[in-house]
Amino acid sequence: MFDLKEHPHKRHNPLTGEWVLVSPHRTKRPWQGQVEKLPPDERPAYDPKCYLCPGNERAGGHINPPYSSTFVFTNDFSALLEATPGGAVDEAGLLRAVSESGVCKVVCFSPAHNLTVAEMDLPGMRAVVDTWVEEYCQLSARRDIAYVEIFENRGEMMGCSNPHPHCQIWASSSLPNEVLKEDASQWGWFERAGRTLLADYLALELSRGERIVCANDSFVALVPFWALWPYEVLVVSRRPFSGMDSMTGEERDCLAAILREVATRYDNLFEVSFPYTMGFHQMPGGAHPHWHFHAHYYPPLLRSATVRKFMVGYEMLATPQRDITAEAAAERLRALPRTHYKLRG
Ligand code: ZN
Repeated sequence: MFDLKEHPHKRHNPLTGEWVLVSPHRTKRPWQGQVEKLPPDERPAYDPKCYLCPGNERAGGHINPPYSSTFVFTNDFSALLEATPGGAVDEAGLLRAVSESGVCKVVCFSPAHNLTVAEMDLPGMRAVVDTWVEEYCQLSARRDIAYVEIFENRGEMMGCSNPHPHCQIWASSSLPNEVLKEDASQWGWFERAGRTLLADYLALELSRGERIVCANDSFVALVPFWALWPYEVLVVSRRPFSGMDSMTGEERDCLAAILREVATRYDNLFEVSFPYTMGFHQMPGGAHPHWHFHAHYYPPLLRSATVRKFMVGYEMLATPQRDITAEAAAERLRALPRTHYKLRG
């Protein structure tokens, strides 16, 4: 009898159409690698060398204002530029290129250099959500912008060079790869079912419960059935809406709360400031009824503060693979305290 807990199998990601190989039998192997804890990360609330702290100088001689809440500026090393001439190259259908323009911004979450999402208070996190919505509305209203990606790279392991709490917003003139895949899948589902793909998926997950991590009145955090990363999390809105521009005040509060709770549970897992890439997938306004607002968390850690998963070998050449099942990962995250380990006496 085929058993998801025992036998190797592939799981399908309905958002992208891709598959992941799951090898649950391998988690029974004894682990003999390192499991050391990291020394506590002691950072000052203000770092005179940090280019994101209030009053400090950035590249090109820009001086940060003495900000007291969030602070947004155009990235000094933007990957996308507004003044990019249009155009395309196509040689024999093999050498194809298209001009891409856009805007890259940086959002500081707080003037405090030593905070993280997990350690921010709820009013502070709500101010971050409000700033995201404001930037999202402004950018997505522009005729030269087709998509706005808001994402946070947290921790050196994810290539984030500055620990000051911040995220990035990249707004582009075309739809990026992951968004194109999810757009097609969600449209196909909506056309057939008359409901969003994630509304149906969320109802199924809530009825099962085994992959739920935590929830509040407006959002649910779960380890998706098709997760690639060991402790991958998907945050889905209970109400189907396409973009953060249509969130109510209560939903903004609930988003702030669930993002803080997910980050807290992550930190509590190995008692370390947990590295991850997180970001939102969404479409603005009411013209995209098939789109269902959600956030993806892709954290690399596997067994401890230092042992990470690598996407190499078979995963680069064939199919991504995981050992620990999504159900086991969700069970661990669900069992962790909601209070941050640094705040426990
Ligand atoms: Zn997505």
